[in-house]
Amino acid sequence: MKKVGVIGLGIMGEPMARNIAKAGFNLSVWNRTAKKANALCDEGAYFCQDATSLAARVDIIIIMVSGPDDLLEIIKQICLTSLAGKTVINVSTVSPKASITAEKKVNQAGGEFLDAPVSGSKVPAINGSLVFLVGGDKPVMEKCRGPLEAMGNKLVHCGDVGTGSQMKLAINLLLTNFMQGLAETFMFAKKMGLQTEDFLEVATNGAMAAPMVKLKGEAIAAGDFSPHFPLRHLNKDLKLVLKEAELCKAKLPVGLQLGDILKNAEKKGLGDEDICALYKALNS
Ligand code: NAP
Repeated sequence: MKKVGVIGLGIMGEPMARNIAKAGFNLSVWNRTAKKANALCDEGAYFCQDATSLAARVDIIIIMVSGPDDLLEIIKQICLTSLAGKTVINVSTVSPKASITAEKKVNQAGGEFLDAPVSGSKVPAINGSLVFLVGGDKPVMEKCRGPLEAMGNKLVHCGDVGTGSQMKLAINLLLTNFMQGLAETFMFAKKMGLQTEDFLEVATNGAMAAPMVKLKGEAIAAGDFSPHFPLRHLNKDLKLVLKEAELCKAKLPVGLQLGDILKNAEKKGLGDEDICALYKALNS
C-alpha cells in the first residue's frame, strides 16, 4: 500500500483524507491551522510539522488548498525535498497556468504531477462520490487510481496537465449560471406570492429536475446558508474563468455579469456562506 499525504484539511480536504484512511492507506496530513487536523489524528493519521516533511514521508501527495497562489506556495515547500518516485496530485481549483507551473516544478524536483480538480461538494467529499477531472499522463493516473477512487467514483481523463483545471473552470461557469438562475427564480416565484413548497415540487420534477435544484432549492427554502461550497471560492473561480476566457477569446456576456454579481456578494459579507447565499445577495 502506498503512503498518502493530504495537505489542506478544509471543508473538502478533511473528509477526502478520511476516505483515504478508511480505504486502508497509511495517511499523513498537514494543515496550516494545525487544530483542523485533530479529528483525523485522533482517528490515526500522522500529523507532519510542515508540507516539506509530509512530502518526504509519503509516496503520493494530495493538495487541497484555496487557489493558485496557495498551490504554488505549497509546491515551493514540497520541492525543498526530493520528489523522486513520488506523485503530487493537485485537487484544488486553480488556473490551468498554475497547474502547468506546478508540474514543471515537481518534475524538476524529480516527481510526477497530476492536475485533478473535483466536481462535487461537501456531501460527495464525505460519501466518496467525487468526480475527478484529470489532466496528466494516463499511466500516472492509473498508478494513483487506488487513492483517487477512495475519494471519488469517477475519473475523467481530460488530456495533459492543465486540461483538468480547464474542465473544472468550464463546469463551474455552468454551476454559477445555474445557481444565479435558481436564486433569481426562487425570489421571483416568492415575490409573485407562489408557495415555496409548490415551486420546489415543480422545480424538482419534470425536465427541470436536477440534483442541484433539490439540494440548493431546499437549502434556500430552509434559510440554511451554512457553507458547503463557500461563495468566496466561487468568486475566485469566476475570476479564473474570465481570465481564461480572455486568453482563449471566448465571449461570456452572462459570465461577465456573474463575475460582478459574485464580487458584490462577497463585498456584502457573504463570502463565507454557501453559494446559495446568491439568493441573499438579491435581497440585501
Ligand atoms: P476551505 O474550507 O476554505 O479550505 C481551504 C484549505 O486550504 C484550508 O485547509 C486552508 O488552511 C488551506 N490553505 C489555504 N491557503 C493556504 C496556504 N497559502 N498555505 C497552506 N494552506 C492553505 O476550502 P474548501 O471548500 O475545502 O475548498 C478547497 C478547494 O477545493 C478550493 O480550491 C475550492 O475552490 C475547491 N472546491 C471546493 C468545493 C466545495 O464544495 N467546497 C467543491 C469543489 C472544489 P487553513 O485551515 O489554515 O485556513
